[in-house]
Amino acid sequence: MAGTAVRGRLTWQTATVGSVTDETPTVRTLALEVPGWPGHRAGQHVDIRLTADDGYQAERAYSIASAPGEPLAITVERLDDGEVSPYLTEELRAGDLLEVRGPIGGYFVWEPAVGGPLLLVAGGSGVVPLRSMLRERASAGSQVPVRLLYSSRSLDDVIYRAELDMAADGVSVFHALTRSQPPGWTGYARRVDAQMLAEVAWPVADGPLAYVCGPTSFVEAVAAGLVGLGYPAGRIKTERFGATGQ
Ligand SMILES: Cc1cc2nc3c(=O)[nH]c(=O)nc-3n(C[C@H](O)[C@H](O)[C@H](O)COP(=O)(O)OP(=O)(O)OC[C@H]3O[C@@H](n4cnc5c(N)ncnc54)[C@H](O)[C@@H]3O)c2cc1C
Repeated sequence: MAGTAVRGRLTWQTATVGSVTDETPTVRTLALEVPGWPGHRAGQHVDIRLTADDGYQAERAYSIASAPGEPLAITVERLDDGEVSPYLTEELRAGDLLEVRGPIGGYFVWEPAVGGPLLLVAGGSGVVPLRSMLRERASAGSQVPVRLLYSSRSLDDVIYRAELDMAADGVSVFHALTRSQPPGWTGYARRVDAQMLAEVAWPVADGPLAYVCGPTSFVEAVAAGLVGLGYPAGRIKTERFGATGQ
């Protein structure tokens, strides 16, 4: 019933932390068990709320890392001076409880019927909702061609590296490492710029759809670059994580 679904999305629910997976030295994926989870779409997010012993509460948004049909999971990057992310990435253990509200968002979502070709551009943890989209594409057997341009500080900071290395047919992954590169690195070795976008992006004539996610300044620079290439603004979907990330 629609009323039930709406109430479910807006209500805080207790989640139990399931498995905890280290993705990089500073990034961790948390599987969350939420009784009666209504399911989600690729690209949506949840709100997480923590309550301290003295009643102080803090809320943050986290993109859903798992594909539709998979159990809920989030992937959190630790900001050393942050309030919430150090707790989520260092303190939480399997069996701990926290509060979740969602799924949230109907704009930054992709499902096979939306089509493509898809240009996915991520900065740092901005790859999280795009990973959900890639998983959804694979599990649905979609043939939509995809190019992912993913900017990280170093190879060790690449989230989901093994999974991205085994990209499915029709998916091309381009890495940009902004701060350090391993010996023999053949990928990009600078921040995403107009020249890089021109090399990686689908031609405008193909009618691509772009999803751009990451720190606010990254997203704005990439979106401006795509508009400069002739992408119609309405074909560029953006998700800003705030002044965080890489
Ligand atoms: C839709 C959405 C989806 C998101 N998805 C993800 C995700 O998948 N993974 C992920 O890791 N993050 C994601 N984020 C970011 C996440 O919500 C948090 O912002 C992030 O985890 C940092 O939270 P924090 O409490 O650790 O840091 P905060 O305490 O909020 O601090 C963040 C930064 O701001 C600085 N800061 C804090 N207060 C001030 C101040 N008063 N003045 C100046 N600077 C200040 C801090 O030094 C720190 O660098 C998402 C955000 C949005 C909006």
